[in-house]
Amino acid sequence: MPYDFSFDLSRLPKQFFRELSRVAEERQLHRRFGLRARELAERFRLSEATGLDVETLLFLMEDLADVQIMNLNHRKKFVASSKRALFLPHCARAHMDSRCKARFDPTVPTYQCAHCTGDCLVGQASALGEKRGYSVYVVPGGSCIPKIIKAGGFEGVVGVACGMELMPALKMVQKYNLPGQAVPLIKNGCANTAFNMQILESVL
Ligand code: SF4
Ligand code: SF4
Repeated sequence: MPYDFSFDLSRLPKQFFRELSRVAEERQLHRRFGLRARELAERFRLSEATGLDVETLLFLMEDLADVQIMNLNHRKKFVASSKRALFLPHCARAHMDSRCKARFDPTVPTYQCAHCTGDCLVGQASALGEKRGYSVYVVPGGSCIPKIIKAGGFEGVVGVACGMELMPALKMVQKYNLPGQAVPLIKNGCANTAFNMQILESVL
């Protein structure tokens, strides 16, 4: 399910994401997240930067923080896992039409990147995942993930998606008792979306 609003956090300074991670960690210890998130929104002038109202921003930040908390909780078990899958969102491809040369496998269904251009986040992330020994799947949605997990015998999973897709996907992965790590999109919209490659690299 996509958000019913569009956001683009790709121009925010890295410090914002560092601060949000810190606030998320604090959220595990106490429940003052709303207050701290509001302070962050004001300090980084998020409304001006994104065009979103404060309540929508707080909703978005809460999702980002929840993802971060789940990552922290799963991290130790994930690091100990060896056979891993990486799920990338089809919406972050450089092209959503026939210019994308990814091979589509209707039986799964997923795309497999053909590395047709260097200027594509999904292409770069696929190459990175493959280099690190991950089985990489470019997915059109979360519904194909259980089938892939069951067939692949994976011990750990990394997923990139918007927060709205990530939370149910992470819960689904938990159902299979697998440690999951997630990288939220910093720009949504279901096409031309974006995620932070440095964050993905550190998660992998
Ligand atoms: S690099 Fe991969 S995902 Fe990106 S446009 Fe080319 S084939 Fe598609
Ligand atoms: S932004 Fe991407 S990950 Fe989120 S719902 Fe749309 S297609 Fe799925």
